[in-house]
Amino acid sequence: MSRVFNFSAGPAVLPQQVLERAREEMIDWQGSGMSVMEMSHRGKQFMSIAAQAEADLREIMAIPDNYKVLFLQGGASSQFAGVPMNLLRGKTTADYVNTGAWSKKAIAEAKRYCAVNICASSEASNFTNVPAYSDWNLSADAAYVHFTPNETIGGVEFHDLPDTGDIPLVADMSSTILSRPIDVSRYGVIYAGAQKNIGPAGLTVVIVREDLIGQVIAGTPSMLNYKVQSDADSMYNTPPTYGWYLAGLVFQWIKGLGGLQVVAEINQRKSGKLYAAIDNSAFYSSPVAVANRSWMNVPFILAKPELDKTFLAEAAEQGLVSLGGHRSVGGMRASIYNAMPEEGVDALVAFMGDFEKRHG
Ligand code: PMP
Repeated sequence: MSRVFNFSAGPAVLPQQVLERAREEMIDWQGSGMSVMEMSHRGKQFMSIAAQAEADLREIMAIPDNYKVLFLQGGASSQFAGVPMNLLRGKTTADYVNTGAWSKKAIAEAKRYCAVNICASSEASNFTNVPAYSDWNLSADAAYVHFTPNETIGGVEFHDLPDTGDIPLVADMSSTILSRPIDVSRYGVIYAGAQKNIGPAGLTVVIVREDLIGQVIAGTPSMLNYKVQSDADSMYNTPPTYGWYLAGLVFQWIKGLGGLQVVAEINQRKSGKLYAAIDNSAFYSSPVAVANRSWMNVPFILAKPELDKTFLAEAAEQGLVSLGGHRSVGGMRASIYNAMPEEGVDALVAFMGDFEKRHG
């Protein structure tokens, strides 16, 4: 068996140890005589798996007690609607920061439910930076401020947090959750599709401050209602049990590494190596403002775009796969989530240097 270095933006590489543990437990989970996939979600065994995963996530993210953690389906995209439905709480306006493709999707969906004030936008720079906080135009009556801490396609990341006073901050953390420690108490809601740093696609994690729960707009489906889901411990219906279990294995893997501070150091080092390779070359370049470069998704372009296909083909021959940029922007993108080993980044950097020598 040989594993490639998979730079996919998501679904993405998972830690090999997690996959191996899942394989060991696949047919017979801890003497139960069944696979986790076959267990009743209300049975003692799965309930223990679910509770352990939540406890581990709470521990590694230091989630305060006044926050609920929901394990849902529907992807981050469902939360584009779920957020306004739950968070408007009688208000009619929400502030949204527009830093790229995923912000735009969240904005388009929110517009179905409320007036959206674009309080800041980096459209003028073609979404290559985070707008300076001093230029943000927050509305006093906003129900919340929504932003995308890491734009998966553009590779733009917030490395610090805006101050929105008493207005709850809502973050689509799909591609940055668990990449570093964060202060959860600064947020009203954090949500993320699992398929980057948490586990397999099909699971969506929502972390929500308790006092924001319970005032949904009329017509909110039960599945998107944080109160319904929280009262039912995310088991209003059948939850994505296997994804929840795998997420739990990923949380244990993070604990084994030493927690998010260690993870952050590794991520900073990995991304630093890649950006250094780009910056030290005349052949590769990054369109993203240096201060806002993502630790997770590193887009870069070749000086000769006609060589894009050759680059991808030669990389794949060396076991470096899924390096093509998003279809909307082209170029290259290396997604280097937690589970991408540092050797994968080293191998990519070496390949890039060699490719430049031969074709640059
Ligand atoms: N937000 C961000 C930042 C994303 O990267 C993605 C998926 N790539 C989504 C939202 C959509 O997630 P999902 O496919 O889980 O709905």
